[in-house]
Amino acid sequence: MAEKKIKTIGVLTSGGDAPGMNAAIRAVVRHGLARGMNVYGIKRGYTGLMEEDIKEMKASDVSDTIEKGGTVLGTARCKEMRTPEGIARAVEVCHKYGIEGLVVIGGDGSYRGAEKLANEGINVVGVPGTIDLDIACTEYTIGFDTAVNTAMEAIDKVRDTSSSHERCSIIEVMGRNAGYIALWCGIANGAEDVLLPERYDYDEQKLIDNIIDNRRRGKTHHIIINAEGVGHSASMARRIEAATGMETRATILGYMQRGGSPTCKDRVYASTMGCLAVDLLAAGKTKRVVSYCKGEFCDFDINEALAMTKEIDNYQIEICGSLSHNYYKSEAALKDEEL
Ligand code: ATP
Repeated sequence: MAEKKIKTIGVLTSGGDAPGMNAAIRAVVRHGLARGMNVYGIKRGYTGLMEEDIKEMKASDVSDTIEKGGTVLGTARCKEMRTPEGIARAVEVCHKYGIEGLVVIGGDGSYRGAEKLANEGINVVGVPGTIDLDIACTEYTIGFDTAVNTAMEAIDKVRDTSSSHERCSIIEVMGRNAGYIALWCGIANGAEDVLLPERYDYDEQKLIDNIIDNRRRGKTHHIIINAEGVGHSASMARRIEAATGMETRATILGYMQRGGSPTCKDRVYASTMGCLAVDLLAAGKTKRVVSYCKGEFCDFDINEALAMTKEIDNYQIEICGSLSHNYYKSEAALKDEEL
């Protein structure tokens, strides 16, 4: 028997916003319409689904959105979705609007909600949206590229003033418990030290020695990129200043890293992932998440994806150490110093 064709789909963004989400929404809307589907835009994530904050989308509803940061649908964290009553309500609303397929753009948490809807017969496809790059099944998440470029540019600026004033700067970047933004900036900005939640051993003396050492070698600044997952940049700055005598300032980049116009990569990859999500639903697939692995867009079963774990790239940590006089010194650099 032929697969029952999905006629009506919905799209929502959930969890933290990320630049490029609009490109994904636009892709779902326009690719869905092009495939003859009705497409509903659901505002404020699962909260809007339960409150029926839902709008039927036309192609023009997503005009002038691809270049904008944030999410035009809004996003939310919805506690009710974690309860059986919440799931039942979400399913009831999907049935009321005839939504047979749902594209959920968000992180791991949003996937867990989606998986529960799939268990109740709603076809779901997840699309990875988070600046943190912390979804195990994919090497790309929507928003990381923009966020890391924003952080890199901000760090370049702090570095200029640090050099002029011969300061040490601790710059805290986002990423929650993942150190990807910090590591990439560490390489891209040539930071003297990078503190990653996956690796930092809280041995501040090593940092202090490194600063004094660099100072002796004539360096006018010392940039420490600190990941959000390590945190405490302000108190660290006070301790480092007291121990080294070098003026030390902490700068927390914060939410500016989430905003702004998405990069070309985020627009193109998010558009591709949005279209792929629609294609999966059109093919009768459910409980899938769209991913990017080894140079290709692909998809996984949600449960399989949620069970995966991801390690920060050891080689990148190593080169971060060998490319600047760094806390994570490479074996070769350590040997050189012994000579
Ligand atoms: P980000 O990476 O930006 O934090 P996320 O999708 O992981 O994104 P969460 O706050 O963890 O963000 O989850 C978003 C929403 O997904 C939650 O507010 C909740 O509505 C739903 N959700 C999360 N975990 C579950 C769960 N175990 N069961 C059902 N729904 C969930």
